[in-house]
Amino acid sequence: MQEPKTIAEFPKCSVCGSEETISQLATAPLKASGKIAQGTFTLLRQQVVPLEQPLLAAITVSCVVTLFDICAKCGTERCTLAQLIQAPVQMQPNPRGNGPGMFGGGIPSRQ
Ligand SMILES: [Zn+2]
Repeated sequence: MQEPKTIAEFPKCSVCGSEETISQLATAPLKASGKIAQGTFTLLRQQVVPLEQPLLAAITVSCVVTLFDICAKCGTERCTLAQLIQAPVQMQPNPRGNGPGMFGGGIPSRQ
């Protein structure tokens, strides 16, 4: 698997200029206690968008991943990082929704 390739970085809030984010505040105790490695990049939300048709790609497809966090100073949700990744096809979001049996599972009704 290829390393993610960073295409854009936004270390500072575009509104107030703060570099501090909610995920940094939230994970600070975990980093202090060693449960999360120091220097780990943290985020609150990520969006993965495939750039190629999964059917045409053999094993992996190029995807752009945008990572979002919330400014700890002014509360603005902002993009912190954008990366290109190669993701396995089966990890792609299925545009047709979950497969049969994924919801309404449980006991099959017999008529
Ligand atoms: Zn801010």
